[in-house]
Amino acid sequence: MPIINQSIAFTSQSLALIAQKKMDPEFNHTKWSEDDLRALRAEIRGYYRHIQRLICVYCQEPIGVRAAEAAPVEHIVPKSQYLDFIFEPKNLCVICADCNHFKGSNEVMFEPVVRGPRRKRYPTVSSAFQIVHPHFDEYDLHIIKANRVYVDLTSKGHYTIGICKLNRFFHFFGACDEFINDAALVEANDLFFSTGSVEVSTLVNGDID
Ligand SMILES: [Zn+2]
Repeated sequence: MPIINQSIAFTSQSLALIAQKKMDPEFNHTKWSEDDLRALRAEIRGYYRHIQRLICVYCQEPIGVRAAEAAPVEHIVPKSQYLDFIFEPKNLCVICADCNHFKGSNEVMFEPVVRGPRRKRYPTVSSAFQIVHPHFDEYDLHIIKANRVYVDLTSKGHYTIGICKLNRFFHFFGACDEFINDAALVEANDLFFSTGSVEVSTLVNGDID
């Protein structure tokens, strides 16, 4: 089952505000962070924090329980590219600050919806997306997470690991990608976190025998 099995049903107050914004020719994605949308953002954040059980949909690490900046609202299809989907319930979730930073405005659809004045419908099938979509895809069928190591099982898993830099722990310490799928490294990584007895430099070099 996808991590999100029920998208948000907005309050009537929020629906009225959304309708107002959609009618406003001056509205654009840069206005998402303005004060008049603060309550709407809080509603979205609170809902998805709850339904996701405080887990980031991309890295599956915990997200913040209280601070807004520790649980940014994520537009799965970037709001900077697709303004039509900025309030789309199936395009929303919450993620961790690092995934938010790395994913940025990368393209996530196979065939980008043509942009223009006519409103387009949000795709409702998994196959429309390059990314592991938290409303449509079961994470474990696409990505194996073993401690801090992420291994792709499918092309969607591969793409998601890439654009969110899920193996960032190893990127940070300078390990090469080729070591990240190494079972011996997984074992060393587990040992590192359970005992602290494996030097980081050992992990970086991949010389663990
Ligand atoms: Zn994350």
